Amino acid sequence: MKLSYTILLLFITLTGYAKHDVKVYYEKSDDGYILYADNNEYCPITIQLEFTVTNLKLKDQNNSVYTVLPRQKKQLVTQLTVIQKNRGYKFSYTSWTNYGDATKDTYDLDYAYDLPYEKGQSFQVHQGYNGSFSHHNKNALDFDMPIGSGVHAIRDGVVIKIVKQHYQSCGTKECKKYNNHIIIYHSDGTFAEYTHLKQNGVTVAIGDHIKQGQLIGYSGNTGWSTGPHLHLEVFLQKMKKRETLKTKFKINSGSEILFLKEKNSYKK
Ligand SMILES: [Zn+2]
Repeated sequence: MKLSYTILLLFITLTGYAKHDVKVYYEKSDDGYILYADNNEYCPITIQLEFTVTNLKLKDQNNSVYTVLPRQKKQLVTQLTVIQKNRGYKFSYTSWTNYGDATKDTYDLDYAYDLPYEKGQSFQVHQGYNGSFSHHNKNALDFDMPIGSGVHAIRDGVVIKIVKQHYQSCGTKECKKYNNHIIIYHSDGTFAEYTHLKQNGVTVAIGDHIKQGQLIGYSGNTGWSTGPHLHLEVFLQKMKKRETLKTKFKINSGSEILFLKEKNSYKK
């Protein structure tokens, strides 16, 4: 009598860092597994997957990145195929996620942004691009706006993130976690972050479609900040870091379009 049997060892561990509202899962197929993702965020999400496999072949190179569309259910991510059917097989993976399409490196260079305050108002840029206090190698702008000034959207977009509960602040990096802020996703794949908003100083909700010039909140002095101001940055999100961008702004009722400079004041 010949006794033959097959033991299929199935051992799957999934390690993920759930910073974003995205879920990766798998289904068994005839010859292995198919991985899918649900993205509940209002912008694309990039997922990086590092697999450890036994007796399974990866469809893509290990550590590949995948972009999942906004508000997408069951988007196909990748597949794993069993190599030898009569042997055990297993896989595990670690995943990283971030906002946006991390593979994107082109955007609308000539877009004319609005100043982030009310029409007719004028504020000084007290720290500019690559500024010496906290903007080292960073394309960010600090506007000298007093607490409670209306913050207006610099461009159309969708609200993807809001933090508004904090009231603490200090002049060192430890206070960064108290930065109240709004992040808006733009149609060319860039984002804008409006930071240091006052506690509960947000007038929009996640998923709202925002028009350029619309009131979105109120400036403050929360987080890593030594005085009332609005910190503004436009960026492309890469897998592990932001690529902050210099952008042009409309000033004086749109009669001029230029890059803003430190210590100058600009009227909207
Ligand atoms: Zn700043």
